[in-house]
Amino acid sequence: QCKAKLTGPIETTQCDYETLESVISPLHTSLHSLARTSFFKHLKIDLLRECPFWESNGFCVLRDCAVTTVDEQDIPPKWRAECLGRLNRPPQDELRKSFPGCYYRDSDFCVLDDEESKGGEYVDLTLNPERFTGYAGSAANSVWAAIYQENCFGLSEADLRSTMEEGDIDQDLLTTSSHGISPADLSSLVLSPLAKQAHDAEKDLCLEKKVYYRIISGLHASISTQLCFHNLDQRTGEWKPSLQCFTDRVASHPERLQYMYFNTVLLLRAISRAERYLSAYDFNTGGVQDENASTTRLVREVIDRAKVVGQFDETQLFQGEAKTLKEEFKAHFRNVTRIMDCVGCDKCRLWGKIQTSGVGTALKILFELDDAAFDPVANPNLLLRSEVVTLFNTLHQFSESLMAVDEFRLIWAQNEESS
Ligand code: FAD
Repeated sequence: QCKAKLTGPIETTQCDYETLESVISPLHTSLHSLARTSFFKHLKIDLLRECPFWESNGFCVLRDCAVTTVDEQDIPPKWRAECLGRLNRPPQDELRKSFPGCYYRDSDFCVLDDEESKGGEYVDLTLNPERFTGYAGSAANSVWAAIYQENCFGLSEADLRSTMEEGDIDQDLLTTSSHGISPADLSSLVLSPLAKQAHDAEKDLCLEKKVYYRIISGLHASISTQLCFHNLDQRTGEWKPSLQCFTDRVASHPERLQYMYFNTVLLLRAISRAERYLSAYDFNTGGVQDENASTTRLVREVIDRAKVVGQFDETQLFQGEAKTLKEEFKAHFRNVTRIMDCVGCDKCRLWGKIQTSGVGTALKILFELDDAAFDPVANPNLLLRSEVVTLFNTLHQFSESLMAVDEFRLIWAQNEESS
């Protein structure tokens, strides 16, 4: 499975694997440099919010779970709290709805932290790479189970009952909203029946649910790829790729690999659609002039590649009867972003929040805004800085994963030769 290259169209997109593969290396080079610029590597994020769904457990005690934060003095002066306080923005209440302890705007698919929120600390993402942390067991499995459960939107009571009659899915769990889930319910359930149910939806149900499942499964696969590539050999203490880990978690399920490509195309399409707005965006950090110019140039490079391979037709979704699914889709995706506060390992929580926010921003760009909205003069505050930062960083993480897949193919070929 490691050897096989995927070929042909990436399902439900207008792009094929070969086209994406042909640009992934130069795209990754641009994104990798972009992720190291001052604008994109600094993000204010609140990692201390309480899990809104159950009492969090399983906090990770390994050193690799910890996040290194930066002192406010070390971030560009423009974003320091006292300067943001002086900005002339519409009052938060006009824009925001609230969940307990967090906020969203009606157009948002995710619950966001932004620079003006009270809590949170600045993080330099380059000092906190996504990699193996040792966060595992029932705590981690429960979070994934809760995330997959959010794919059950749009199912009627009758659908649920018939699904339950067919399989051994915990009745209480399926009929309770996420707010009522306890970790014990989730771990006793084990993930597979829900993941299976969601996967069956992939075959039988509507396009919207397929897309939802692909997004989540692709994100899960990308996280798995990162932790298998930047893996700690616990016998030798050496950091190196683990082919076995990648084979077990991703390569032996080819559809998971496909969904990583799917997410990449979705993110590229969002960037391409928002070209007008992003081209005029101010990436100035008030720092070194050269760096500001190179950030703008790198964003341009990514947009230009996105225009070639970001071939996803968002107009196929939420049409006709499926229009009613959009609000549910949005509400469930928001729940996924809130579930991130239940992740008991800070570094995993950091990247979980970034990537669900990045995908949420892409969904907002694709499904919530019309073309006129991208006019940067009429709509200068369309996207928060945190939305722009997470959108590009998420694409960077997916491009890292696709590059890692290539490395795993090489390692596999070398192992074959030597055996
Ligand atoms: P899990 O990955 O926990 O998966 C549970 C079950 O889900 C599997 O048994 C399988 O049935 C199903 N499944 C697995 N992958 C897929 C897929 N792609 N699509 C559909 N179904 C699938 N660990 C780290 O070391 N570093 C990190 O940065 C990190 N980040 C995380 C971020 C989040 C948001 C979460 C919830 C967990 C994170 N973890 C991280 C933990 C990691 O994802 C695993 O949960 C952990 O390694 C235990 O793996 P597992 O083998 O038990 O299976």
